[in-house]
Amino acid sequence: MWSFLFPKEVFSEMRLAIKSRSVLLPQEGISLSSLRPAVLYIKNGKIEQISGELDPKFTGEVIDVASDVVMPGLCDTHVHMNEPGRTEWEGIETATRAAAAGGITTLVDMPLNSIPPTTTVEALQLKRALAKKTAFVDYGFWGGVISGNKQELEPLIEKGILGFKAFMIDSGVPEFPMASEKVIRESLPILAKYGVPLLVHAELESPVQMKNSSVRSYSNYLASRPQKWEVDAIRLMIQLAEEYGAHVHIVHLSAAEALSEIEKAKAKKILISAETCPHYLTLKSEEISDGATHFKCAPPIRENDNREKLWEGLNRGTINFIVSDHSPCTPQLKKMELGNFKEAWGGIAGLQFSLPVIWTEMVSRGLTLEYLSNLMAQSTTQFLKIKGKSGKIEVGMDADLVVWDPEALFTFNESQIYHRHKVTPYLGKKLQGIVKKTFVRGQCVYDLGKFTGPLGQEVSRL
Ligand SMILES: [Zn+2]
Repeated sequence: MWSFLFPKEVFSEMRLAIKSRSVLLPQEGISLSSLRPAVLYIKNGKIEQISGELDPKFTGEVIDVASDVVMPGLCDTHVHMNEPGRTEWEGIETATRAAAAGGITTLVDMPLNSIPPTTTVEALQLKRALAKKTAFVDYGFWGGVISGNKQELEPLIEKGILGFKAFMIDSGVPEFPMASEKVIRESLPILAKYGVPLLVHAELESPVQMKNSSVRSYSNYLASRPQKWEVDAIRLMIQLAEEYGAHVHIVHLSAAEALSEIEKAKAKKILISAETCPHYLTLKSEEISDGATHFKCAPPIRENDNREKLWEGLNRGTINFIVSDHSPCTPQLKKMELGNFKEAWGGIAGLQFSLPVIWTEMVSRGLTLEYLSNLMAQSTTQFLKIKGKSGKIEVGMDADLVVWDPEALFTFNESQIYHRHKVTPYLGKKLQGIVKKTFVRGQCVYDLGKFTGPLGQEVSRL
């Protein structure tokens, strides 16, 4: 195929050195990394050597980023790219450009809300063919567990799917029906056999007491999806994880009341893990106005007190990592003009903002870059168990890097957002941490507003 781009082979063989006074490197014997002056030598997309200073005999290209921080690229395991079928909501190209601009070097696409959803091998191949031509960062795919696709699970695993997602409640789209306990039970022995995780949207419906009848009221929306729904679902999933010896991962945990359940299960060595998202960690229901449907997501953003407990859950290791759950739609579907929480699409567009949004919050809590990198690069990458990537800057691993200034203050305006649509709760917020360059396997895919690519490749299981 003819391409105006630099041929991939030539690009990847180039020998490159990235030099900085602040490189986040692993420390021997300690799980966290630390900032040090270093030069990273890169060849064939891999980190070939790490040294304290530049070798004067080096003849390749040198990129000196002065005091900007060089950190492992982020890995976001929860992204809805919505292509094919709902490309007007987002799309692989726009989502992966936004990822690159946000310092994300690997992302994993959710099996919904594309049409068809990734519940069959045929659908996977369709998505794969599109991503190969249009992705700006590396990517993988989650498959779906739905009623009636049991016979597809093994072939999907054999074709390279990283794991599966199931909904214990209505997913919001008709082509991805919820999975009953029976359907989940049928899937778990297959997943356990191959050692791939089941990612679960954990909410189990039961009757609720509404506050009022207003569809514009946020407190009413919050009351409609209580913590109990998450706790009940998580209790059931812990039981099933134990019964089948399968790895169950709770996506977008919002209810802090479930933390003690997860903690107890982990103490019993049950294979359970959990993630939460920037919106649950930085936004609070007390500050969401009635009618502000761009804050609608499911489960909902809860009270400030709950948010504090989620941070405690992260600090204790009960929650394993932070991912975006980037789930955009067209502005029309957000029903902003009516402010109707009942009818608005539930999902927050946040892919590009994860790094500065979380970092801004971490700075106010006195948390470190090492901690950030652990929660958004290392733990997420290692959860995927993929070849060539560890989420750390290490010799022999892919040179997936973000170069950024963690001290610079800025405010997002619409022209700096690369998602297809600009509706987001983070617009106009004062944030800290500007991404300058993003390298995927040693290739600079993002450089202060300029993109090179698409050069993204699919990741594969170990
Ligand atoms: Zn999601």
